Amino acid sequence: MIKKILFVTSEAHPLIKTGGLADVSGSLPKALSGLGVDVRLIMPNYQAIKTTEEIFYKSTVRVNHIDANILETRLPGTQVLVWLVDCPEFFDFPGNPYVDEQGNAWANSAGRFALFCRVAVEVAMNRSYLDWTPGIIHCNDWQSGLVPALLSLEASRPATVFTIHNMAYQGLFPKSTLTALNLPKPLWNPAGIEFNGMLSFIKGGLAYADRITTVSPTYAVEIQTADYGYGLEGLLSHRNDALTGILNGIDLGQWNPRTDPAISEHYDISTLNKKQLNKSALQKKLSLPVDINIPVFALISRLVEQKGIDLVVECLPGMLALPLQFVLLGRGDKEFEQQLSRFAKTHPDKMAITLGYDETLAHQLEAGADIFLMPSRFEPCGLNQLYSQRYGTVPIVRKTGGLADTVVDALPENLGNKTATGFVFNEATAGTLMEAIKRALLVYGQPEAWKQLQATGMQQDHSWHKSAKDYMALYEKLVPAGR
Ligand code: ADP
Repeated sequence: MIKKILFVTSEAHPLIKTGGLADVSGSLPKALSGLGVDVRLIMPNYQAIKTTEEIFYKSTVRVNHIDANILETRLPGTQVLVWLVDCPEFFDFPGNPYVDEQGNAWANSAGRFALFCRVAVEVAMNRSYLDWTPGIIHCNDWQSGLVPALLSLEASRPATVFTIHNMAYQGLFPKSTLTALNLPKPLWNPAGIEFNGMLSFIKGGLAYADRITTVSPTYAVEIQTADYGYGLEGLLSHRNDALTGILNGIDLGQWNPRTDPAISEHYDISTLNKKQLNKSALQKKLSLPVDINIPVFALISRLVEQKGIDLVVECLPGMLALPLQFVLLGRGDKEFEQQLSRFAKTHPDKMAITLGYDETLAHQLEAGADIFLMPSRFEPCGLNQLYSQRYGTVPIVRKTGGLADTVVDALPENLGNKTATGFVFNEATAGTLMEAIKRALLVYGQPEAWKQLQATGMQQDHSWHKSAKDYMALYEKLVPAGR
């Protein structure tokens, strides 16, 4: 029988994106649909949604005394159906899903996503005039956390999966929100959506979903410890049997050095020397001295502590004294932006920084750089180390989360048996990062070994097809409750 899956998400590329969740929501349903699953997305109808596809009115449902329309469209360029929860009083404002135009969190975040969850429940229970009954509801992050909680109160319901993309965001609100939103009182208990006297949306997923997944096997283990669990490590280890890690894939069409429209010279493993032309083009574009022999380090990231940007700042004096160039693209904490910009200003022949979000430049950095820095303190999965490998740009990563699962350290034995794909360091300190940078420079000085490192990375299979099969295996084991 064809599986029917409702995929609940707060963002999906290319309709609207703020981070990795949008990439997953834009790619996984497409890959599942390729495996024969009838998968449909449901997400809020934000003002900022961009699409070239047609949008139709389907129905209106009333939840908690509020009317919400359900509109239907498709994920652009695919056959995957998307239901948009249209409720202008909550979603018809400029800004992104989580913050307004000034960057302040929406004052009514709890109300917005509680409404969204309630409508998703009506769709899940086939009470919204869409004539479609899913067997599985796949929820993502705290914004959809109330869905498994509310469904637990139904006598007969679909099976539920809850995926954690980042434990650092939990949707915590004052207790008074429970009454203000008229949420069912039985859910309010320490084993439910209560967390230290606060209302926790993410606990709705963690406590009530039939299965919990996160986006890498290592992160699945880490979040059961105090360092990564944000106080929920106890609940997660209690639910250990229901918890698994499945790595995200990458969009192989969008990230392909053989066809990438953003880069000046296309290349693959057999024409790796052409990568140098992208390096020269990048150096020229960023006003750095053009020199194909000097190793170029790149970093593309949100400039926040999670990504280990403070470690990079601490390393910079030593790093910039070495024979290398450093190109950086990102935006985030003002203090990091200023510190990094100061270094770029005082070392214009060694470092170039672009503050902002620029997808084209991100592709050019991946194609033109030799080495990619990802010293994250925690990293649920991470995408740039995967893009880097595909572009023959060797990543330096901290051994955490998805980075630990996808990069094999260039130790002598791994170089010898051709399994190495990058450089891995353990401690989140500037000293260990610096050691890894020096190790990378040593191997960079051995052209044959370097070429092998690049080739092994380029041959890895990080396709969504592979991840989708892992999700399918998980769905296969689930059965709707009480039916
Ligand atoms: P996270 O979701 O924690 O930010 P990921 O590595 O999972 O980190 O995904 C980040 C995505 O956003 C990647 O596709 C990365 O290339 C992209 N990205 C981050 N910052 C920028 C930027 N300033 N310009 C362009 N792309 C960016």
